[in-house]
Amino acid sequence: MHSDSDSCSESSRPVTPSEDDCCHNACDPCIFDVHRKLLEEYERRKKGDVKIQNRKNVLCTFLYKNFVVVDVKEACECYILLSLRYQGNESKNDTSVSINPGQHVMLHLQDTTKPFTPIAWSDNSIEFLIRLYPNGKFSMHMRNVKIGDIIRIRGPYGNFEYKSNCFQKIIMFSMGSGITAVYPIAKAVIDNELEETKIDLVGGFRNILQIPIKKQLQSLSDYWNFKCTLYISQLHNDVRDLHGINVKPGRLNKDSVSDILEGNAIDTTLILICGTHEFNRSVEQWTRCLNYTHMHVFE
Ligand SMILES: Cc1cc2nc3c(=O)[nH]c(=O)nc-3n(C[C@H](O)[C@H](O)[C@H](O)COP(=O)(O)OP(=O)(O)OC[C@H]3O[C@@H](n4cnc5c(N)ncnc54)[C@H](O)[C@@H]3O)c2cc1C
Repeated sequence: MHSDSDSCSESSRPVTPSEDDCCHNACDPCIFDVHRKLLEEYERRKKGDVKIQNRKNVLCTFLYKNFVVVDVKEACECYILLSLRYQGNESKNDTSVSINPGQHVMLHLQDTTKPFTPIAWSDNSIEFLIRLYPNGKFSMHMRNVKIGDIIRIRGPYGNFEYKSNCFQKIIMFSMGSGITAVYPIAKAVIDNELEETKIDLVGGFRNILQIPIKKQLQSLSDYWNFKCTLYISQLHNDVRDLHGINVKPGRLNKDSVSDILEGNAIDTTLILICGTHEFNRSVEQWTRCLNYTHMHVFE
């Protein structure tokens, strides 16, 4: 039997499964289907059809780099979207922003440094979704930020690394701004045409006006392998569907988490968790009670 790392390595040719690796239960996709897809991906990479990241990362884990604010706008109640562009002297052809989906960086503004998880990025720009708290120190600086201001960034940090097609399903539990860690991972999976993995994104928010990146979640919901369910703790009207997003009243609790996890294949399902410390501990505990072992908690 081959290990996951054998079949999922980015640079080496995917190892061909042996007849013994197949369980002959007509799985869909079968291990040979997955191997075929990985082989196609490997051949495309070899031919250079797929962009290989060989430029130097503009981000550095031990040095701050300057980014300029190019846009700041309200995403919904209590949340803003912040777009930054790199302000370095390096040649554009030699460097680019490189972040693994789910990784975070440290933003430094005035006298305050806080971790934030980019929701999107290009070669020279990064976008953040930031929740503003009434008494928050960083939140106060963010309320006054203007186009042209400089924000310093170091990173990226975080050891989560997703390997394509290693799981049949990923169930993501997030609460509030925790959606920033799981959304880029969902987007990366959906954007990859060779992916067979299904995504079940479950988020918790206080009210219907505090759902950020709603449009982005709705766009992902158009794809066969993405499902989004949001639990709204203060749901006063009878909204049950937001154009592709399932809406449920109440909080994510032990019963709802158990319902979501029920009936999934434990060996081929990855669980991702991101919320407050209390939320993370509770969901992790409920998930472990049901014998799930493939799990990553973002904190
Ligand atoms: C790895 C990591 C990644 C993160 N990524 C993001 C991100 O992408 N987007 C984002 O908005 N935030 C993110 N955060 C949280 C962020 O770093 C700040 O902690 C948050 O924005 C509050 O900072 P502040 O200085 O404004 O508030 P603080 O001055 O730290 O807190 C002031 C008050 O705000 C309230 N408050 C602060 N944080 C929370 C909370 N999590 N839940 C409930 N109440 C709270 C409390 O009442 C607190 O007393 C991340 C945190 C970590 C650890």
